[in-house]
Amino acid sequence: MEDLIQKQNDFFASQQTKDINFRKQSLQRLMQEIKDREDAICDALYADFKKPKFEALATETQLVLAELNYAIKNISKWSSPTPVETSWTNFPSKDWIQPEPYGKVLVISPWNYPFMLALAPVVGAIAAGNTVVLKPSELSPNTSKIIAEIITKVFPREHVGVVEGGVEVSQELLSKKWEYIFFTGSTRVGQIVYKSAAEHLTPVTLELGGKNPCIVDESAQIKLAAKRIAWGKFINAGQTCLAPDYILVHESVKDLLVEQLKQQIQQFYGENVETSPDFARMATAKHYQELKESLKGQKLLFGGECNDTDQYISPTLVDAPDRQSALMTGEIFGPILPIIPYTTEADLDRYILSHAEPLALYVFSRKGDFQKKIMSRYRFGGGAINDTVIHISNKQLPFGGVGQSGMGGYHGKHSFELFSHHKSVVKRSNWLDVPLRYAPYKIPIRWVKKIRHLF
Ligand code: NAD
Repeated sequence: MEDLIQKQNDFFASQQTKDINFRKQSLQRLMQEIKDREDAICDALYADFKKPKFEALATETQLVLAELNYAIKNISKWSSPTPVETSWTNFPSKDWIQPEPYGKVLVISPWNYPFMLALAPVVGAIAAGNTVVLKPSELSPNTSKIIAEIITKVFPREHVGVVEGGVEVSQELLSKKWEYIFFTGSTRVGQIVYKSAAEHLTPVTLELGGKNPCIVDESAQIKLAAKRIAWGKFINAGQTCLAPDYILVHESVKDLLVEQLKQQIQQFYGENVETSPDFARMATAKHYQELKESLKGQKLLFGGECNDTDQYISPTLVDAPDRQSALMTGEIFGPILPIIPYTTEADLDRYILSHAEPLALYVFSRKGDFQKKIMSRYRFGGGAINDTVIHISNKQLPFGGVGQSGMGGYHGKHSFELFSHHKSVVKRSNWLDVPLRYAPYKIPIRWVKKIRHLF
């Protein structure tokens, strides 16, 4: 680790990463390697938690390739200095903002989208001219292995290196000095990362989780709502940081919504979900056991089947779990969906405000005022009106949380901005040097009190 860090320090100091063509070529090589090994990446994801190939392509490799493509096309534009208006106090001058790489970036990623969440930030960090050390999750070992192979083949270690391993390795990495840390994972570990970063005053991005509410009011188009909720909830078997965590449905349409959700689940995965090639498994035994345990004593509206042999939990609808139960206190992160009826808007407050700021919030309604109110009333990372999860797919939208669900947003140009320091530069001319600012001060104080008009 020491050797890798020293090498990256030296490489960054050599200024090679400042060259835009170097960055483009690096990203092009990565793009080619991912294209060449796309099937093998899908196989690794299947080996880790039976991730269906369609989902592996659509939510992992293709998202990373889209990020690569967009960055390669735009790096030159993004990295050019942006001229800004000058201030009269500096007249004559030229002023600009110059994006600069930070230096060594540490990226720590989770197991739930183990390829995309490891490589999407790496693309941004390289595009902005940093060196990178990536630590993928030990809980998706096959994907971690292929990521390590790809990175090792494409990059010299002094530019981008992978360190595989678990908690101890992660902690050792965090004890070192980085110029930027990008962490995706749980809020609990996010706090550990933040504390370690504070030791060296290292800036961080924390992409964390939370309990994402999904509101369905009485005016919603219920059939379509059910389809879009079931998709966002059961893709990746519910192991999605953006998945709806629980439904708050107006009591007058609750039965209809439940009926439609059941129908959608059957349409997606057939009568026996366990045999569907389109439904993944729980990625870790610990998480599987916790989820299975959380169903005990609950009133099930649908599903609830578990199979220990391959950590299978079927899409499950739970009727209004107790607010103190495990299902309603922590993030669910699996294919279990509580359905809670509400009557008044005050009920929504009671549920939503009793949890920390979620990563996402969704509202299904045909009432414009209600949509607007919900979008502005609560603090959450991002969200959608009349759909779930899809806001992640627009690279113009920064993806990230707020409060307990994290800080910082990335994707597309936002990634480049996030991994760049915005250096402010003023270039003065030498032909004029107004003496007024120098001591001994001779300007009447009443004039100084107006000086703000010159800034
Ligand atoms: P996690 O926090 O347990 O682990 C994430 C990474 O941190 C792993 O690489 C792991 O090795 C490392 N790690 C674990 N414990 C550590 C410790 N004590 N010290 C230092 N490093 C440690 O998260 P996870 O279980 O892999 O992922 C699930 C969580 O991630 C969920 O809470 C989910 O909401 C969140 N998540 C957020 C996003 C997002 O983009 N906001 C995306 C996916 C997942």
